[in-house]
Amino acid sequence: MYSEDHPADRYHRQALVPDIGPDGQRNISSSCAMIVGVGALGCAAADHLARAGVGRLILIDRDVVEWTNLHRQCLFDEQDAREHAPKALAAARRLSRVNSAISITPEVTDLTPRNARSMVDRHRPAVLLDSTDNFQTRFLMNDLAVRLKIPLAYAGVLATFGMAMTVMAGSTPCLRCVFDGPPTTPGETCDTAGVIGPAAGFAASMQAAEAIKILAGRADAVSNRLVRFDLWRSTHTSIDLSDSRRADCPCCSEGRYEFLDGEAADTAATLCGRGAVQIWPGGVASVDLGSMLNRLSPHGSFSLTPVTLRGTLRETPADADGPIELTVFGDGRTIVRGTTRVDLARSIHARYIGS
Ligand SMILES: [Zn+2]
Repeated sequence: MYSEDHPADRYHRQALVPDIGPDGQRNISSSCAMIVGVGALGCAAADHLARAGVGRLILIDRDVVEWTNLHRQCLFDEQDAREHAPKALAAARRLSRVNSAISITPEVTDLTPRNARSMVDRHRPAVLLDSTDNFQTRFLMNDLAVRLKIPLAYAGVLATFGMAMTVMAGSTPCLRCVFDGPPTTPGETCDTAGVIGPAAGFAASMQAAEAIKILAGRADAVSNRLVRFDLWRSTHTSIDLSDSRRADCPCCSEGRYEFLDGEAADTAATLCGRGAVQIWPGGVASVDLGSMLNRLSPHGSFSLTPVTLRGTLRETPADADGPIELTVFGDGRTIVRGTTRVDLARSIHARYIGS
């Protein structure tokens, strides 16, 4: 329907692409994508999908915007960093100005085994986008995608290189066929190895294109290849995955979903980059941030933002890497910055927040 606010030809140039056409555009407009991780990849992918007119976008992210994000996370600005705005909210705010005709639902939380299935049940996405930077969530999403038969568009980026592949349960290899499992020692991340914005944009573009194919109703066009690139060296490789399904894959062959409901599903304490550990005690579903402020105020300088409580402890433990900064979320999570030691983060959490 034509209106001044939403001219009917808004998507004309996209629908003009023969592979999409008016029918594909209608499919896109009535579909839902769930983007997990609204960092560099998630920002760029969400921007593409919002502009493409995807009817419902679900944005899930557990973290807040920091100054070190701004060089690559294209939906955020200096005000977001100043306010430590939760990324999901800041992204939704920005995207609602890009396209006010679509529905955008921010979820300020960590996707974990305890909420993954209910999140999918609630939103019924037609495609999942893995835009995270950690293996735990990546393989959790892979389990979800295979078990619930929801297409998964994966992308990863580090320094100047990146990769993308898509999992179509039952017909392509899954991420565990190709990558096996998480590394046994902590791998490099963007926080340690750095990253350039264009590399994230490139990987996210491949991921968004895969999602658009699926949402347009053209799953037949989805790539069955692992594409890798290095923008610094201008190299690209594309590996055919036709024969890469593993007969002994724990996930897509044996049906063991270790990250969704097995031993690997323990996410009470997880490293989350930048010298930080997230603590989310089992059974805790919400926290009254007002009363928590009263509890923490004697121990340092703390203040409330609309959805978090944040501040720095006056006392720095001798074995910490620096001052301990706590960010408490309404869903019961706390991010402890200033250490990568899980035991220290747990003890700080038990002492100041309580378990
Ligand atoms: Zn597999």
